[in-house]
Amino acid sequence: MDSSSSADLSTDLFIIGGGINGVGIARDAAGRGLKVMLAEQADLAAATSSASTKLIHGGLRYLEHFEFRLVRESLIERERLLALAPHIIFPMQFVLPHVPGLRPRWQIRVGLFLYDHLGGRKKLPGSRSASLSRAPFQAGLQAHLKHGFVYSDCWVDDARLVVLNAIDAAERGAAIRTRCRFVSAKRQPGGWSITCRHTDSSAPVSIFARAIVNAAGPWVEQVLEEVPDVNIEAKIRLVKGSHIIVPKLFEGQHAFLLQNPDGRVVFAIPYERQFTLIGTTDVMYEGAPEQARITQAEVLYLCEVVNRYFNRRTTPQDVKWTYAGVRPLLDDEHEDASKVTRDYRLELSTANQQAPLLSVFGGKITTYRGLANSAMQKLLPILGGRKEEWTGTAVLPGGDLPGGNFEAFLHDVKARWPFLTSSTAYRLARAYGTRIECVLDDAREMAKLGEHFGAGLTEAEVSYLRTREWARSAEDILWRRTKLGLHLSNPEAARLTEYLSR
Ligand SMILES: Cc1cc2nc3c(=O)[nH]c(=O)nc-3n(C[C@H](O)[C@H](O)[C@H](O)COP(=O)(O)OP(=O)(O)OC[C@H]3O[C@@H](n4cnc5c(N)ncnc54)[C@H](O)[C@@H]3O)c2cc1C
Repeated sequence: MDSSSSADLSTDLFIIGGGINGVGIARDAAGRGLKVMLAEQADLAAATSSASTKLIHGGLRYLEHFEFRLVRESLIERERLLALAPHIIFPMQFVLPHVPGLRPRWQIRVGLFLYDHLGGRKKLPGSRSASLSRAPFQAGLQAHLKHGFVYSDCWVDDARLVVLNAIDAAERGAAIRTRCRFVSAKRQPGGWSITCRHTDSSAPVSIFARAIVNAAGPWVEQVLEEVPDVNIEAKIRLVKGSHIIVPKLFEGQHAFLLQNPDGRVVFAIPYERQFTLIGTTDVMYEGAPEQARITQAEVLYLCEVVNRYFNRRTTPQDVKWTYAGVRPLLDDEHEDASKVTRDYRLELSTANQQAPLLSVFGGKITTYRGLANSAMQKLLPILGGRKEEWTGTAVLPGGDLPGGNFEAFLHDVKARWPFLTSSTAYRLARAYGTRIECVLDDAREMAKLGEHFGAGLTEAEVSYLRTREWARSAEDILWRRTKLGLHLSNPEAARLTEYLSR
C-alpha cells in the first residue's frame, strides 16, 4: 500500500454502492484477506436491491429468450443461497394457471421440463400439473380456471440479504460507510485518490485505494463520468419495475405466475401474512433513478392482470403500498423492455497497467454471489488475496439454524421467549435467525425490551438495528430492515421518528 498518500484513509479495495452487488463483493473480498471499504450514498439496499420481486429464481420466462446459461447459473445459485440463509430465503410453490388462447400446454410443459433439468435442483421438488378446481390452489381463483402447473422457486427478503452480506463483510474487517457518497477519483501511482462526502458533514473525505469497484447499479454510468481515463464499452439500460401491495387475494403459502395477453407474466405472492404482492411491470426509464415511482397506468395494468384471475376485484383504491425500482440492465439494444437480457457483465479498466477499476453492468439478486466471485477472479491477480472461492459454503449471519430447519428453530424461539406473540416470534426468527439472541438476549417479559412502538417493534430491536445494522431513520427500519411500515399506524411511525431524532 502506498504510504506516501496524503489520504485520510487507505484500503486495498474501495467499493461504490451498498446494493446486493456491492456488499456481495465487499464480503467476498474481505473474506480473502483484503482491506475493504464500501461507500453507500444512502442506506444499504436503498435502491434496486430492496425493490425487487424478491425471488431467488432461475427465471422461468428467460427460457423464452433462450437465456439458458443465465437460467442454469441462477438455478444452481438458488439452492446454494437457500442453504446459506434458510431464515430469509425459503422455498415457495408457484402456480401457473393454463389459459386457453395464451401459452399452449405443450409449451409450458417444455419450459418446466427444462427448468427442472437445467441443473442445480436437489432439494426443491420438480414441476407437475395441478387441478385448480380443488384445494389448495382453487382458493380465491375464478371458476373458469380449471387447470394449471406447479413449480418451485425461492422467496428472499431482498433488503435483509443485502444487510446480512454487509454484516458479514464488516465482521471480516470491511469498513461499511452508509450516507457516504463517492464524488470523484483520480489515478495516482499505485492506486486511486478518491473523494467522498458524508451526508451529515460538509468536509470531504480522501481515501487512497489500490482498486475501485463501481457497483452503483443504475448510477454506474454517472460514476464513470467522475473518473477520468476510463474506456468502457458496456452500456446500461434502465428499465423501471413497479409492484403494488393489496389485502390478501387468496389463502395459502403458494404464489401465482399469471400470464397476460400482452405476453408478459406477473407474480401474485403472499406477503407479510395479510397481503398479496403483485408485480412487476417493465417500462423503459430515462429519469433520475432515485425518482422512479409507480404511475397510475402501471397500477391499473397490475389491477387488470389480477382481475383476470381472482374472484375479488382489485381497484387502485385497494392498494395499500407500492414500490418502484430501476433495473440496471446490460444494454443489448433490445427494443422490448421485458426482453432486455438479465445477464451481467464485469468490465475491468486498467488503462496502461495502471490502477484497476471494475464496473458491474446488470446482474440479479439471485446471481450476486457468483458475480462477486467473478469480480474477485478479475481483481485477485492485481490485488493478491486468497484465491479459493469460499462464499458458496459460508453461511450468512443468523443462517446457522440447527439442521437448517426453520420450523424447529421457530419452535425453540417460542419456547425460549414465550411472551412473544406468535406473529412477532415468526417475524424475528425469520429476520434474524440465530442472531435473534442479539435482539432479545435473556429477556423474560416484553417490558424488558423497552418501549413498544407497535406491531412487535421494541426499543431492543431498534437499538440492535442502529448499532449492528447501520439503520438511521424510521424509513430504514420500517421499509428495509423490516416491513413493519405496513403494520404500524401513522402515529406509531411518527413516534418512532421522534424517538430516533432524540
Ligand atoms: C422491479 C424489479 C424486480 C426484480 N426482481 C428480481 C427478482 O425477483 N430476483 C432477482 O434475482 N432480481 C430481481 N431484480 C433485479 C435486482 O433487484 C437487481 O439486479 C439488483 O438489486 C441490482 O443490485 P445492484 O447492487 O447492482 O444495484 P442497487 O441495488 O441499485 O445498488 C446500487 C447502490 O449504489 C448506490 N450509489 C449510487 N451512486 C453512488 C455514489 N456516487 N456513491 C455511493 N453510493 C452510490 C445507490 O444508492 C445504490 O444503493 C429485480 C429488479 C427490479 C427493478
